[in-house]
Amino acid sequence: MTKHIGFNQPYLTGKEVHYIYQAVSSFKISGDGMFSKKCHEFFEKKYHFKKALLTTSCTDALEMAAILLDIKEGDEVIAPSYTFVSTVNAFVLRGAKIIFADSGADNPNIDLDTLEALITPRTKAIIPVHYAGIACDMDKLMQLADKHNLFVIEDAAQAIDSYYKDRPLGSIGHMAAFSFHETKNIISGEGGMLVINDERFIKRAEIIREKGTNRSSFFRGEVDKYGWVDIGSSFLPSDIIAAFLYAQLENIDDIQNRRKEIWKMYYEGLKDLQAEGKLGLPFIPEYATNNAHMFYVKCLNLEDRSRLIDHLKSENINAVFHYLSLHKSQFYKDKHDGRDLKQTDLYTDTLLRLPFYYELTNSDVEKVVSAIKEYYKQKK
Ligand SMILES: *Cc1c(COP(=O)(O)O)cnc(C)c1O
Repeated sequence: MTKHIGFNQPYLTGKEVHYIYQAVSSFKISGDGMFSKKCHEFFEKKYHFKKALLTTSCTDALEMAAILLDIKEGDEVIAPSYTFVSTVNAFVLRGAKIIFADSGADNPNIDLDTLEALITPRTKAIIPVHYAGIACDMDKLMQLADKHNLFVIEDAAQAIDSYYKDRPLGSIGHMAAFSFHETKNIISGEGGMLVINDERFIKRAEIIREKGTNRSSFFRGEVDKYGWVDIGSSFLPSDIIAAFLYAQLENIDDIQNRRKEIWKMYYEGLKDLQAEGKLGLPFIPEYATNNAHMFYVKCLNLEDRSRLIDHLKSENINAVFHYLSLHKSQFYKDKHDGRDLKQTDLYTDTLLRLPFYYELTNSDVEKVVSAIKEYYKQKK
């Protein structure tokens, strides 16, 4: 039996348990303790975020953003259909209607050529997703948003340590949401972060994150008692989570370097197949960097992809596809306005993600590459 190559495997740097032990022995394990502060400082310094606030997930960070924008019934929010449900759920929870945009032909990011036609007087925000950590064309997007007076919330769940024209992703929109779920590059099991670049939102964000109280101001000595001042919920993670995360952040360069090596091996190994027109490989625009969040191939059609998955399975390799487009989902199909989203459908049918994680060995990658080549050799 050949070695099984799974799709994802969380990577531990070795310091996680040590830092958790430190957090626990300090008897300060609720939110915003020593490790949360270290994480906030790390992000604000390295990526020039005006304000970084750890949350319990990216989903939660997006919910905070929706509250901060005062999204309400009748508002419209534009987002890609080819994404994870959390990109839009936060806005649906506040009563917004989601106007789904198509993806571009080059990569699954939102198509900026057809986006402007979707803007109406009710549009409040655009939620670009930097798919696979590859930047959307943010200059173009921000210009469009400025012109129509819209907010931009970057769904940067997959985009840690990635750049647009030398600007870190997450630092460009009014706000941004990151994920530290165990399937991402930098992890804490479950976990996330809201980044605020528009200063007008900072004060209220701290309140919403602390159950609608001004407790953060109280701890800084700015007010002499704290109380209920707004709506809110419990969006902050325990310092135990932050301790785990901080161990990862200390090793971010090592993690990113290894992931980029793996990505490059896949690309080099498969580029002949792309040249022969057998499959498509990721496209990275010249304004974007690659943070090696994932490696995907584009098959010719749904049947081709199903056969490739089966072939890989027979070689003990687990490759998976995602997203079933949101505009055709059971929950939203009747609410969608009926527009065809051709590129979205194409990615839904043809995109396949290959095993990708830090501890994947070079020989694992070679094995996956040769299994894919073998499939195309056998294919009639
Ligand atoms: C992973 C992911 C999320 C959700 O992140 P959680 O931390 O699990 O809430 C949201 N959007 C995108 C694009 C993602 O990939």
